[in-house]
Amino acid sequence: ILHNQVQELKGNIRVFCRVRPPHQSELSDVADVNYPDDSVEGREIELTGPSNESALGMAMGTVTTKTHVFAFDKVFGPRSNNQEIFGEISQLVQSALDGYNVCIFCYGQTGSGKTYTMASEDGMIPRAVDQIFDTATNLQEKGWTYTVQGQFLEIYNETINDLLVCADEFDKKKLEIRNDTKDGKITVPDLTVMSLDSQETVAKMLKTAAGNRSVAATKANERSSRSHSVFILTLHGVNATTQEKREGTLNLIDLAGSERLSHSQSTGDRLKETVSINKSLSCLRDVITALGSAKDGNHIPYRNSKLTYLLQYSLGGNSKTLMFVNISPLKQHISETVNSLRFATKVN
Ligand code: ADP
Ligand code: MG
Repeated sequence: ILHNQVQELKGNIRVFCRVRPPHQSELSDVADVNYPDDSVEGREIELTGPSNESALGMAMGTVTTKTHVFAFDKVFGPRSNNQEIFGEISQLVQSALDGYNVCIFCYGQTGSGKTYTMASEDGMIPRAVDQIFDTATNLQEKGWTYTVQGQFLEIYNETINDLLVCADEFDKKKLEIRNDTKDGKITVPDLTVMSLDSQETVAKMLKTAAGNRSVAATKANERSSRSHSVFILTLHGVNATTQEKREGTLNLIDLAGSERLSHSQSTGDRLKETVSINKSLSCLRDVITALGSAKDGNHIPYRNSKLTYLLQYSLGGNSKTLMFVNISPLKQHISETVNSLRFATKVN
């Protein structure tokens, strides 16, 4: 029985790998990466790059290369588009409407395509929202009324900022996470909650959030790649005929860039950022790994970072998690790419 439970938990975490296409100006630096040729979609990715010992090898002038093979639930090559990728996750959006808690993450180094995948105009966020409103409309025939609420926050240096308030207010508004164990709910009191009744109100909300993010970004260069952005949709369904109720959550998360930032070169604020990003990404990996190898009563270290604490009821249990590992196709990024793929293999 325990074995089955483990299988079931593991079955709830899936990892998709996506390789972004090179830009025109990058064509001369494309790395040696292979995925099944006959299709833009497969399960394995194979790349040739420096072996583990490369740092030592470089010091000794003998860089060795190695072919790495990684397997994921799916691998999308550079020719894949957001529409077909959404086709693979629309079932998860349906699960949120059915009352599940769902988390979808994008993990990867800065420039690997996380925001393009998640939050661009044609990315997963607007597509998920479209599906939610379309499905809710169709379910009206069966007696269902859905209300949709949205929240948008960023976690920057282990501090939560409300992306729906003006960035000038970030420092004034201290947001804390409250764990309501009785209800099995996490809340962030004082975080703006928006009632969303149409695609248009969502578009407006996303615009506000993007605006506030970019105002914050001008204050600290590159800031958006150093914070996690978390879009939370809460879906309440009530059926007038059957009196059934459902409450599901869809969390769409664009993680901070995973690149190894060297501690030695960082000072002051940059060092603080480096430490907190590394810490929260490794906490996320630890939580997902612990869930994947869950034995009765084993400790899941949710409390070690704001991100995992915030998402604790949306990770594990009977929630559903999907992680995109976004990678660059370039030679110059190969060691970061290998790091990302290793990270993603651990959570898979
Ligand atoms: P990240 O959020 O990981 O830092 P971005 O999503 O901003 O990376 O992507 C970096 C650049 O590559 C952007 O100019 C983006 O438009 C482009 N890009 C990323 N993924 C794709 C893709 N699948 N197809 C086309 N262009 C992409
Ligand atoms: Mg980005």
